[in-house]
Amino acid sequence: MSQPSPSAAGGLLDRLRNGAVICAEGYLFECERRGYLQAGAFVPEVVLDHPEVVEQLHRDFVHAGSDVVQAFTYYGHREKLRLIGKEELLEPLNRQALTIASRVARESGALVAGNLCNTNVYDVDEASRRAVRSMFDEQAGWAADAGVDFIIAETLDFCGEALLALDTARASGLPTVVTFAVHRDGNLRDGLTPEEGCKRVQAAGADVVGLNCARGPRTMLPILERIRKALDGHVAALPVPYRTTPEEPTFQSLTDPVLEMQAFPTRLDPFVCTRDEIGEFGAHAYELGVSYLGVCCGAGPHHIRSLAEALGRRPPASRYSPDMSKHAFLGTDPSLKDINREYASRL
Ligand SMILES: [Zn+2]
Repeated sequence: MSQPSPSAAGGLLDRLRNGAVICAEGYLFECERRGYLQAGAFVPEVVLDHPEVVEQLHRDFVHAGSDVVQAFTYYGHREKLRLIGKEELLEPLNRQALTIASRVARESGALVAGNLCNTNVYDVDEASRRAVRSMFDEQAGWAADAGVDFIIAETLDFCGEALLALDTARASGLPTVVTFAVHRDGNLRDGLTPEEGCKRVQAAGADVVGLNCARGPRTMLPILERIRKALDGHVAALPVPYRTTPEEPTFQSLTDPVLEMQAFPTRLDPFVCTRDEIGEFGAHAYELGVSYLGVCCGAGPHHIRSLAEALGRRPPASRYSPDMSKHAFLGTDPSLKDINREYASRL
């Protein structure tokens, strides 16, 4: 089944009223893994240096079932460009990211989203709040200029910063999604529980609230249950695809037992969730009443396809979903040679 056209499927809120919306995230990690983005500062210069890579990744995610093309402006804000001494690239980078995302959305019938994120300069004093606000204003302004369908403010760990992002995003008149990253201690950094934070941003006008990044499926679900109980309205969940545990509940806290060192951010490979685990998470979260679903840092198209299929969909990539019946050794097709099938247990 091909993706519905925007006019048939409607905007974000129409789609959420009719079922789930899938949003693939994790562009930073995937571009890093492919060799087009530097771990550390994590600035999406790839948008200007290799736009074809970003464009193809958008296409890959839509092909795999994402309903949303999220403009790759995560960490493309003023503070990050200051850090690498390239503030002059701020506006071109943002405008180009929005142009690329809009092009892929138009050709595929997906929604296009602008993106605000944690600034890393937020503090409680008025000067820092003003600086954060102006960073959000410029990025949201470029997103609105580009004609995005809605704005995502994500990976926020201070409720105060989330409220600033929301205020900016709402000024555009567009629908808004606000998601929190919940670190090891289980609370937001200004001391609120995640459900209290979600309640506040919802009361301030966010259309969709919830969690993204930091936690894998297993350690995000219990918090999602609490959020779902605490509020009505649309809830979002976009975990990282890593096997986090109650002892090490975030991907930043995972320790590789062999290397005996922190796995984040470039040694996380041994912890990657299988596609089936992501599918199970999606089905479980949707059953809970969480309808805006995706995967964050570490997501690959195979994760997104499993998520889509767990929700009963057949995205274009399902044409190539596994069919082991014709595997030479493990298959069941009667034309396969017994000599190989009998050997299967010795592979
Ligand atoms: Zn993430």
